[in-house]
Parts: sequence; structure tokens; C-alpha cells
Amino acid sequence: MELLQPILHYGGHFLAPFLIAWAIYRTDWKRFGAVMVASNAIDIDHLWAVPMFDPDRCSIGFHTFHGWEAALIYLALLLVPRWWARALGAGALWHLAVDAGDCMAMGGL
Ligand SMILES: [Zn+2]
Repeated sequence: MELLQPILHYGGHFLAPFLIAWAIYRTDWKRFGAVMVASNAIDIDHLWAVPMFDPDRCSIGFHTFHGWEAALIYLALLLVPRWWARALGAGALWHLAVDAGDCMAMGGL
């Protein structure tokens, strides 16, 4: 379990987006997946968190871009008729789902 968790975390952040992209946008899944991975940049909100990194902290609801207000913006992006906006929105929502999975794994959600 101690080893499995980081594998699930990083696999979820960097590999799963390509699987999702392949499932929903097969014609151009590499580009779609790459933009989904790029939306992991929402983790930049950790830079102004104190302390900056805490492995036992649940990101959801704590960090600026990991709250429900941010999630609404990501949902709105899905409605924009541009593939890259949808990829960003889907990637950010997926990112929240992976982080929420971490919280559940540590019993914090
Ligand atoms: Zn995160």
C-alpha cells in the first residue's frame, strides 16, 4: 500500500489523462492528453500554501485551485466549444478526482 499509493497518484496525474483522452477524443488523443496533463499546473497553488508541501494534507478544499469554486470554473470550461478548453477543464477535474482519491486513501475525506 505504501508503494501503491504514489504509483496511483503519479499514474493518475500523468498516464490516466492519455487513457481518458483516448476514450473521449480518439482522433487527436495525444494532443488532448498532453493538454490534460498540462492542467496539472493547478498544483501551482501549493506555492503559496503554508507549509508548501505536506504529504498528510488533503489538497481538496485547502488549496486555491482545489476548491469547489475552482471546480465550477473547470466545469464551465467543458462548455466552451474549443477542444483545448475542454481538455483543460477535463484535465483539471480529473486532477481533483485523483487528489480526492489520495484524501480518501489517507482517510481525510
Ligand atoms: Zn493537486
